[in-house]
Amino acid sequence: MKDNSESLPVVDIFTDGGCEPNPGAGGYGVVLFHPKTKQRKEADGGFRKTTNNRMEIFAVIAGLEMLKQRCGVTVYSDSQYVVNAMTKWVPGWKRKGWWLSKTRRPENVDLWQRLDALCQTHQVEFHWLKGHAGHLENERCDQLAMAALRNPNLPADYGYENRSQNDSVRPDMQEGDGCYKCSTPLMKQAPRSKPKRGYYYEFYLWCPKCQATYQVESAKRAVKEPSLLL
Ligand SMILES: [Zn+2]
Repeated sequence: MKDNSESLPVVDIFTDGGCEPNPGAGGYGVVLFHPKTKQRKEADGGFRKTTNNRMEIFAVIAGLEMLKQRCGVTVYSDSQYVVNAMTKWVPGWKRKGWWLSKTRRPENVDLWQRLDALCQTHQVEFHWLKGHAGHLENERCDQLAMAALRNPNLPADYGYENRSQNDSVRPDMQEGDGCYKCSTPLMKQAPRSKPKRGYYYEFYLWCPKCQATYQVESAKRAVKEPSLLL
């Protein structure tokens, strides 16, 4: 996957996050390591109320946000949730405009979007590391996270505390939006089927590449019932 035409500074980022209880006070710990210069940096932080998974994601965000220039990064996380999301799930979520269904967004969508943007800036590979298995940097991240969540006066994780604001309804698709399957801009097409009793669709959206079709609410029109007297 690495693009060899570009020689970027190389950084390893080790991350861990946790909560006590879950949900509850949470902390994250990060170790940045430059294999060439042997430079090593640590960072940590916490929130008064959050979740284990959010702290695992946030640890990676905090690590990447410390980089001052575009880097080639290998992230080592002991969270299968983070590694699976970034290697398997996020591309599909993005194609669907970060919606799982008409009324459901992926959990922690605010953090996934932030992390995804950082992965556009940097060239990032994700590796899963077995946690609490004696890996020194992973153990150190765990220590940092656990110490951070015990700090008094932790700030709010607004993305968690105001998470109900994410619950809404997916906006209707428009002409020109990306196909959920292949991201090609959608086109309007005239319907082939006859109007159903009561309503019909004035147009539907069609993908010129993979031929997927999408019915949209904004195209729905009421049919006037013919008068029985005529
Ligand atoms: Zn398509």
